[in-house]
Amino acid sequence: MKLAAGNPAAAVSWPGRCFSLRFRQRFATMFRSGTLNILKLLKMFACSIAIVLKLAVIVCAEDGIQLNLDRTSPALHMPAGKRVVLATPAFEDYTEMFFDLCDAMQLAVKDECRIYPMNAEIGLNAIAIIQDDNRIIVFDRRLSPMVGYAGAMMIIGHELGHHYCHHLGRRPSPGLELEADRFAGASMRKAGQSLDDALAAIPILDERPSKSHPGRAERVAAITAGWKHPETGKSCRR
Ligand SMILES: [Zn+2]
Repeated sequence: MKLAAGNPAAAVSWPGRCFSLRFRQRFATMFRSGTLNILKLLKMFACSIAIVLKLAVIVCAEDGIQLNLDRTSPALHMPAGKRVVLATPAFEDYTEMFFDLCDAMQLAVKDECRIYPMNAEIGLNAIAIIQDDNRIIVFDRRLSPMVGYAGAMMIIGHELGHHYCHHLGRRPSPGLELEADRFAGASMRKAGQSLDDALAAIPILDERPSKSHPGRAERVAAITAGWKHPETGKSCRR
């Protein structure tokens, strides 16, 4: 499903509207041409009931969209793995953080910032993915009580970094994570956040390195370097 144009946070254009418009047009054409009779009216009444039921199902589906997570989707810490999750357009706080970071890094609104912030339960993680050509950042809201506002903002900056640095589709590696961390540190500084705030999510990161992610100390160094030298935040695009 292609997500709607305009405010990315508004997310999705739904098939229900299109369906009811087509129905109205058909009704008007029949009425004008004089082919509308009682039998057809009854048939249309039955159809209307079916449409109402169908729309009710669609309205329920409007609460979210299914995202197919991929093993290569870069994540905040441990790999997200391959699975399907239900995601909803992000709550306002996260959308604001996203746009603040985009502005701070002077990213083009119609291009580099054309990303949809969403919320989903993904095992206390955050990921950057592309689905149906839609670039998406998914943040698990259950992280917020653990990392606070500043920590959530840094995490969104990290995922924005993955998109900006064109990491998606590449094999996850500690080197790519450090690039996203540097980007996040720079974006926090440029958005007026302190170094302590830029490091607010550090306690949830693994202390030891893995195949996909660096250890905590290296990540602190990368975020700090980005914060201290924000002009290097975009150096991942060589
Ligand atoms: Zn990452």
